[in-house]
Amino acid sequence: MKEIFHEVDFCVVGGGLAGLCAAIAAARHELKVALIHDRPVLGGNASSEVRMWPAGAWGENNRETGIIEEILLENYYLNSLSNYSIWDSVLYGKTRYQDGITLICNCSCVSLEMRGNQIASVKGWQLTTQTWQTVKAKIFADCSGDSILAPLSEAEFRIGRESSKEFDEDIEPAVADKNTMGLSCLIQARETPSYQKFIPPKWAYKYAKDEDLPNRPHRIDETNYWWIEVGGVNDSIHDTEQIRDELVKIAFGVWDHIKNYGDHNADNWALDWVGFLPGKRESRRYVGDHILTQNDVRAEGRFDDIVAYAGWPMDDHNPLGFNYSGEPTIFHPAPSPHGVPYRCLYSRNIENLMFAGRNISVTHAALSSTRVMRTCSIIGQAVGTAASIALRKQTTPRGVYNNHIKELQQILMEDDCYIPWHTRPIPELSRKAELTASESDPEPLRNGIDRPIGDNDNGWIGKLDSWIQYSFNEPKNIKQVRLIFDSDLNRKNMALRCCYPLNIEPYRVPKTIIKKFKIETQTETGKWEAVFSEDNNYQRLVCISISICTKAIRFIPQAAWSSENAHLFAFDVR
Ligand SMILES: Cc1cc2nc3c(=O)[nH]c(=O)nc-3n(C[C@H](O)[C@H](O)[C@H](O)COP(=O)(O)OP(=O)(O)OC[C@H]3O[C@@H](n4cnc5c(N)ncnc54)[C@H](O)[C@@H]3O)c2cc1C
Repeated sequence: MKEIFHEVDFCVVGGGLAGLCAAIAAARHELKVALIHDRPVLGGNASSEVRMWPAGAWGENNRETGIIEEILLENYYLNSLSNYSIWDSVLYGKTRYQDGITLICNCSCVSLEMRGNQIASVKGWQLTTQTWQTVKAKIFADCSGDSILAPLSEAEFRIGRESSKEFDEDIEPAVADKNTMGLSCLIQARETPSYQKFIPPKWAYKYAKDEDLPNRPHRIDETNYWWIEVGGVNDSIHDTEQIRDELVKIAFGVWDHIKNYGDHNADNWALDWVGFLPGKRESRRYVGDHILTQNDVRAEGRFDDIVAYAGWPMDDHNPLGFNYSGEPTIFHPAPSPHGVPYRCLYSRNIENLMFAGRNISVTHAALSSTRVMRTCSIIGQAVGTAASIALRKQTTPRGVYNNHIKELQQILMEDDCYIPWHTRPIPELSRKAELTASESDPEPLRNGIDRPIGDNDNGWIGKLDSWIQYSFNEPKNIKQVRLIFDSDLNRKNMALRCCYPLNIEPYRVPKTIIKKFKIETQTETGKWEAVFSEDNNYQRLVCISISICTKAIRFIPQAAWSSENAHLFAFDVR
C-alpha cells in the first residue's frame, strides 16, 4: 500500500474543537503542525456529524475567548441561520488554510513507534486514498477524545468512576467501577408550512405514552435531545457500534412518539436529521503530573500553573442513561470560573505526549465539569501554545511547567485567553506613554484585564467618532496595534441550533463589536494621517501590523454593529 511520510514539530491526533485549537495555536506560534483527523469534517461533537453546541463556563462575563471566540464570531458573521454545513466550512477554513498546518482528514491513527519513553512517529490509515500516513514529530497531542495514543504508547490512563475514598470526592460512588457517562445520537427537526406525516422504521422502539419517557422533556423548542443516551454501563470505546444500534432505535422511537402519540404541537414539523455517529462523553482519561479532582474544582483551582478554566457545573450523568427513569443527570454545583492547571495536560510517563479535550488528567467527577467544548477549546489553545514554547526552549512539556509557566500564561493572555486572577503585562511602549481620550477615563485600557469582572468594567466607553490617544515624548517606532472589542460575553445563544422553526430569528454579530474604525498617527507638522482603516470587523481581538515612527497615535471608532457607543477593553501599541 502507498505510504506518505511527514516530518513536523507538533502532531495533533483528533480534530475536535480541542485538537483544532491546539493545532491553530501551535501553527500561529510558528510550529510546523500535522493534524490527523479520522472524519471528513472537523469539530468532533460540535461538527455536523454529531451537532452538540459548544458550551462553557456559567456566570457573568465568564465566556471563553481566544481562538474559540474567533471561530464563533466568524460563524455569526457567515452563518446567521445556523446551517451546519456553513459551520463545518468555518472550522475547515480555519484549519485547512492556516499557514503551518498540514490537515490529514479521513485518516485514523492506528499505530506508533516509540524512541525510549518518547513517541517517535504515529501512523494512520487514510480511507479515502488507501494510503498510510506516517507523521514524525517532536511533540504529540492526543485530542482524540478516546485517547488512542494511550494504549499504543502505554501512557498511564484511567477509565470509569473513582471510589469516593480515593480522592475524598463525595459525589463519586463508594466503590470504584468502570461506568462512564453514555453516548448519544441527536435528533433535529424543522418546521414546515403544512402537516407532515411520519412513518417510523420497523425497528424503532415504540413509546406510546408520555410516561414511557419519564423525566425526558420532549417539547420542540430550544432544548435538544441529549438524554437519548446509553452505553455508560458498556465499554464506551469497544461497544460503540452496538450502542449506536440501540441509540438510533431510541431516536426514531422518540420522534415517532412526538409525531404520532399525544399532542406535542408537532403536526407541521418534519424530522430533519438524526445522528448516526454517536457523540461520546467519556472514555479513557490520561494521567498527568496532577489529577484534577472534585475538591480542586470546589476550591476554585487557584493553582500557580493555571492555563485555562472551567465553569460548567459537575454535570454527572447517570451511567444507565435513558434506561434510568429518574433524572438523567445531577448538576452538582461548581464555582465558575475554576482553574485548570497545566500539569493536567501532559503525560506523567511519556515524555513528549500532551492532551486536550475530554481526555485530560481529571477524575470522573472533575471531568463532568471540564468536558464542555468551549472549555476543551481553551485547553487545546494552551496545549498548542505550550508545545511552541517547549520546542523554542528545547525542552519537554514538563520542562515548560518547571521553567516557563509564566511565559505560557502571558502568551495566552496576549492571545486573548482569559486566565482568572492573572493580569496581562502591558507592552512597555504603551505603559510609558501618555494615554488620553476625547472623553471618559481611558486608563482601564492598560490595566491588563480584558473583560468586566464584578463591578469593574475594565474598559473604555465613548461615543462613536471620539478618540483614544497615546503620545510619546519623542518619535517611537510602532510595529503593532492590538485592540480588544466587546463581543458581549454575556450573550445567551449557543451559536448553533437543534431545531429550525419557520420564523427563525437569525443570529447576528454581537451589536457591541466595533465594525468600522481607523488608526491615525501624527506627522511632524502636527497633522493626523490615517495609517489603517477597517470597515467590516466582526472580531473581538484585532492585531494590526504597521511600521511607523511617530510621536502620537490614536484609535477612532466609527461604527459598531448596532450599538450607539464604542466599548473596548484594550488598546496596546508595541
Ligand atoms: C450528546 C452529548 C451532549 C453533550 N452536550 C454538550 C453541550 O451541550 N455542550 C458542550 O460543550 N459539550 C457537550 N458535550 C461534551 C462534549 O461534546 C465533549 O466532551 C467534547 O466534544 C470533547 O471534546 P474533544 O475535542 O475532546 O473530543 P471530540 O469532540 O470527540 O473530538 C475528538 C475527535 O477525534 C477524532 N478521533 C478519534 N479517534 C481518532 C483517531 N484514532 N485518529 C484520528 N482522529 C480520531 C474523532 O473523530 C473526533 O472528531 C456533550 C457530549 C455528548 C456526547
